[in-house]
Amino acid sequence: MNYAQFGPAGNPDAFYNAGGKASVEMPGWLNRMELGAYEYQCSRGVTIKEDTARLIGEAAQKNGVQLSIHAPYYISLATEDEKIALNTKGHILKSLRVAQWMGADRVVFHIGGPGKQERSAALKKSSYLFGKIIEEAERQGLLNDVVLAPETMGKKNQLGNLVEVVEFCKMHPALIPTLDFGHLHAVTGGKYLERKEYEEVFDFLTAELDEKLASNVHIHFSRIEFTQAGEKRHWTFEDSYGPPFEPLMEVIAARHYTPRIICESAGTQAKDAKLMQDYYLGIMSGITVN
Ligand SMILES: [Zn+2]
Repeated sequence: MNYAQFGPAGNPDAFYNAGGKASVEMPGWLNRMELGAYEYQCSRGVTIKEDTARLIGEAAQKNGVQLSIHAPYYISLATEDEKIALNTKGHILKSLRVAQWMGADRVVFHIGGPGKQERSAALKKSSYLFGKIIEEAERQGLLNDVVLAPETMGKKNQLGNLVEVVEFCKMHPALIPTLDFGHLHAVTGGKYLERKEYEEVFDFLTAELDEKLASNVHIHFSRIEFTQAGEKRHWTFEDSYGPPFEPLMEVIAARHYTPRIICESAGTQAKDAKLMQDYYLGIMSGITVN
């Protein structure tokens, strides 16, 4: 049977506290924690060298860790500025190149803001530029083993609510959604407290895309503080913010779904990924009464 996979976004404090220095050591460290996923952060720019990327990839393969990459935050697909459009294209293509070096099979990215445009016009513009980037990526052979995963965003003024991300994913077969439930919690003013609300998301994905994709979707999870405008700050599982992870674990276990769940807690992302995994595996082995 296949299982959901769990892991951290970036390197947690505990890794450094244990003497860890470089990301190449992370897959081994995760293996000792019995975690099977790792999201490498290129969020401040793609600066990693090819040999380092390949070493991380080898370590991941040796330790049974699935890799994804978070593309730079500077991506702005709706931009009206030609230079920013060119940089956006560069950020996505470079992230895909690094994914290829590493053997990462998913690249997460943010669509960006609408600027001064109407939301619908901005989305149209985003699709247009993204279509061009996809064409170039295909020409360079960068989409053979990698999918691109637009993320649901945490602030209302950013493009990428659930419906927009799902619509975006209809553009090309090499696209899958990244469901960030912390963000969804923040933009909906506090939803995703109960099973039913998680069920609805997967039902929506199944109806709009297909169930295989819904089952294998990419997920970000963290507790989050929000205001009227949405996301304010990521917290840890010890802090008293929502959303709770238990209903999500119950839903994916009941449906035998196999998403990859990346924890984005502030500093405790590996420990919290493990907490989710323990809860999920408990249900799967019939220990926890469902
Ligand atoms: Zn993100």
